[in-house]
Amino acid sequence: MEIDEVEIVEVELKYCERCGGLWLRVMGDEQVYCVSCIPLMAELPVARKVKYRLPNNHTIELDNLESSFFAAGGNA
Ligand SMILES: [Zn+2]
Repeated sequence: MEIDEVEIVEVELKYCERCGGLWLRVMGDEQVYCVSCIPLMAELPVARKVKYRLPNNHTIELDNLESSFFAAGGNA
């Protein structure tokens, strides 16, 4: 048997940003979760930015988790 063509696919070692497991990701892909965690993360609501106006007229943007922390008095 003779091989006519060989396709080389570059991969990089990536850790899952949910479970910390290691997996191989195709170079240039932006996936950050492993195959096991993708369906679990898809069930969560998408984070949204919340703007807060400070007394000195500056505005800051926080995501859902940070704003929940402040809503709980900073003791979450
Ligand atoms: Zn994972």
